[in-house]
Amino acid sequence: MAQDVTHISEFGQTHSVTNQPPPLADYDLFAVDRALAGAVVAEGAGWAVSALSSFGARLGQADMLRQGELANRNSPILHTFDRYGHRRDEVEFHPAWHRLMTLAVGEGLHSAPWAEPRIGAHVARAAGVYLMCQVEAGVQCPVTMTYGSVPALKRQPDIAAQWLPRIYSKTYDQAFRPASEKSSALIGMGMTEKQGGSDLRANSTRAEPVGPRGPGEAYRLIGHKWFFSAPMCDAFLVLAQTAAGPSCFFLPRWTPGGERNAIHIQRLKDKLGNRSNASSEVEFNGALGWMIGDEGRGIPTIIEMANYTRLDCALGSSGLMRQALAQAAHHAANRTTFQRKLIDQPLMQNVIADMTVEVEAAMRLSLRLARSYDRPDDPAEASFARLVTPAAKYWICKRAPALAAEAMEVLGGNGYVEEGPMPRLYREMPVNSIWEGSGNIMCLDVLRAATRTPDSLDAVMAELRSANGADRRFDAFCGRLESDFTGRTPHEGEARRIVERLVLALQGALLLKDGTGGIVDAFCASRLDGASGRAFGTLPGGIDAARIARAVVPL
Ligand SMILES: Cc1cc2nc3c(=O)[nH]c(=O)nc-3n(C[C@H](O)[C@H](O)[C@H](O)COP(=O)(O)OP(=O)(O)OC[C@H]3O[C@@H](n4cnc5c(N)ncnc54)[C@H](O)[C@@H]3O)c2cc1C
Repeated sequence: MAQDVTHISEFGQTHSVTNQPPPLADYDLFAVDRALAGAVVAEGAGWAVSALSSFGARLGQADMLRQGELANRNSPILHTFDRYGHRRDEVEFHPAWHRLMTLAVGEGLHSAPWAEPRIGAHVARAAGVYLMCQVEAGVQCPVTMTYGSVPALKRQPDIAAQWLPRIYSKTYDQAFRPASEKSSALIGMGMTEKQGGSDLRANSTRAEPVGPRGPGEAYRLIGHKWFFSAPMCDAFLVLAQTAAGPSCFFLPRWTPGGERNAIHIQRLKDKLGNRSNASSEVEFNGALGWMIGDEGRGIPTIIEMANYTRLDCALGSSGLMRQALAQAAHHAANRTTFQRKLIDQPLMQNVIADMTVEVEAAMRLSLRLARSYDRPDDPAEASFARLVTPAAKYWICKRAPALAAEAMEVLGGNGYVEEGPMPRLYREMPVNSIWEGSGNIMCLDVLRAATRTPDSLDAVMAELRSANGADRRFDAFCGRLESDFTGRTPHEGEARRIVERLVLALQGALLLKDGTGGIVDAFCASRLDGASGRAFGTLPGGIDAARIARAVVPL
């Protein structure tokens, strides 16, 4: 054998490595995204630009990108029992997960708009979420659920008084101890059971009162949850049945007496993506919980939390798409085929420009939606959020897997190989469309909002009208959209078609107000005027795809 090796080495070096792009690292995620900075200012969070800028710079460091990779390559491990047979119900995470959590919580992504309320606080946080998800999206799960839990917790003042100070803390504390001994706390949610996740009335977990019944009172929960993500959170909002119907309960991991609550983790899901995050199956064996909100009104109570998590699904998918696009554009700028850089090949320019249009439209709408959460006392904004939250979640999360596949293809064979970032991005995409209300459920919810709370449709139409006259393609598109609703009740089977058009109109209105020239024209021609095909890379002639594509190259 030794002789063979010597023989081979006589040929010297087999080849030199050329034409392979360097890794995309050590760059400022915020600075390279001028559209993001513009949207942050337009939506009332200009004061946050400097903090976002340093967050974007920190996230783009090679070391931080590596943490995202490590946290996903080293999935969490469940320890059901200790070696003596006592229940542990603990999940062990890789140190990279804790580093990323420290960063996200330190930035206040889990609660800053509640802890330090001011105009633009939800928008500033939204931009932070968009940046964070470009590096690692799994940590967003507990961060998002904690953010969404606050309005529901405020319904029970004694629990809020005890827990909110810890939820507002920016010091991540990974210890598995009673919350009273910790510097901060995170909150999860449990709704989905084996027999149904969309149809929550089918929940079978039951809650028996320990003493008196009603809001704030203690109950024992018996049952299960089939999906229960981030089980190392310190407490959960959970749906369970009482005599009055599904009700919402607050379940801490530890009882006030300092014992482990009877929340038994059965297994962790072996998931397609989102592998840094633990998603578990649990059983409640008489777990202690306290009722939040009115008895029998658990679904609206917990759906209030879900609305915030739906906003984050739209933001998360926008951020993931942005990272896929950045990787694609970076590759195209550094790879030569047929004597030209890929970024200079007209058809590749079309592909990258078309993806850029998609990403900027998604980000723009997500930040506009976040602004409506900044103004809950403004009835028009609350109505806007009611309808646009499910609509934006549906469309943006639906576009993301297709965009990730296209971005992967820009990298050719390298895109398909696990050493690079594209497979992880691709695997991460579908989950935002499935959890927190799957696509059809979101579309049916939009129709419900439009018919039962007409103010929400009025708020959207007012937003569209504010851009009237800016572009004839937009005006014609909106005219057709209005006829979907006027004088008729849309049929359920049409819901996806209608919601898609509604979101496209909104994205068009926002881009027409402050989008860059090239993007606006490309959006109107391809998305509103129907002058493009069904795959990315089908922008019609006359669009300056070269300029759009070159401008999105991050370095
Ligand atoms: C990784 C991961 C983590 C999760 N973590 C959590 C968690 O922490 N907590 C939690 O509570 N849940 C969690 N979920 C569960 C998730 O929210 C549910 O899977 C989702 O809501 C769908 O419910 P289901 O799986 O029961 O599907 P079903 O409700 O059976 O729906 C199946 C399909 O049918 C469609 N559908 C349903 N009804 C209709 C209708 N009337 N018309 C047309 N189409 C319809 C749905 O859109 C969906 O596409 C998680 C899921 C995943 C994948």
